[in-house]
Amino acid sequence: GKKAAAELREELKKEVSELKTKYNKVPGLTVILIGDMAPSQIYVRNKEKSANEVGLKSEVIKYPEAVEEKTVLDKIEELNNDETVSGILVQLPLPKHIDKQKVIETITPSKDVDGFHPINQGLLMQGLPGFIPATPYGIVLLLQHFKIETTGKEAVVIGRSNIVGRPMSILLSQPGPAGNCTVTLCHSKTQNLNEHIRRADIVVAALGQPEFVKADMIKPGAVVIDVGITRVDNPSKKSGFELKGDVDFSNVSPLCSWITPVPGGAGPMTIAALLQNTLLACVRRNN
Ligand code: NAD
Repeated sequence: GKKAAAELREELKKEVSELKTKYNKVPGLTVILIGDMAPSQIYVRNKEKSANEVGLKSEVIKYPEAVEEKTVLDKIEELNNDETVSGILVQLPLPKHIDKQKVIETITPSKDVDGFHPINQGLLMQGLPGFIPATPYGIVLLLQHFKIETTGKEAVVIGRSNIVGRPMSILLSQPGPAGNCTVTLCHSKTQNLNEHIRRADIVVAALGQPEFVKADMIKPGAVVIDVGITRVDNPSKKSGFELKGDVDFSNVSPLCSWITPVPGGAGPMTIAALLQNTLLACVRRNN
């Protein structure tokens, strides 16, 4: 993930610089961050750092936890109308008093670089150009980067969220690169989950349960993509915690043909895909 993301950022850097020289346009990413949850702050800092690295203009607008919903919605409207802003992202999760769906639907679809707006999710469903949510998009780019064959393979996606599992299942089933799989979408109510996973040539674990996927669930030679990131207490670490994926990496990795680690797998690809979406948003606006 780290290697593929670094190469993708290099390509993006060239494209951003070309856009600037030829058309005097600099794509701009604005991130809204509400509250002071440590993981969200880290994600936003990483997004800002990577955006700057490829030459995008990035701005982070911070609000305290108690901010009124209207203030956030008004700001989104303002950004929707700001020509210098190509992409808008509101970092999730949000405080309980703010309606997540309302926030998502207020971002104009042409600036929704997270791909969470129902319009973009509908476009994705039909295989039409829109914005693909960054995590599944990053995984598609990762599979393409390493030329991993997906056609005709059995894929099992664990988790059905609108931002990871469900779009991932759609992408893997669509015709085209990193597609053409026969997909099973598993979730918390799936029966005989282990049997489904054991059948899979490609497993995407996005359930948010640390080390849930064990070696005895994996078909030898499978490709395993671990999306989960959970903070688990570990007093021996300076920070007091460590990040764990949804896969028992040390026992599963000897069995796989490919596997992504946590951290350093799906995470960096998610950010690279977000930057790719921001560049795309800028190019589309100016075409
Ligand atoms: P979510 O909580 O919205 O969805 C989790 C899904 O997993 C649900 O659909 C649920 O049905 C399913 N699930 C839960 N327990 C299960 C079980 N025991 N068996 C089968 N299915 C089960 O989470 P999400 O937003 O989709 O994120 C999933 C994980 O991925 C989290 O750990 C999150 O932190 C991580 N994540 C990582 C990135 C990244 O950049 N790497 C991006 C987004 C999310």
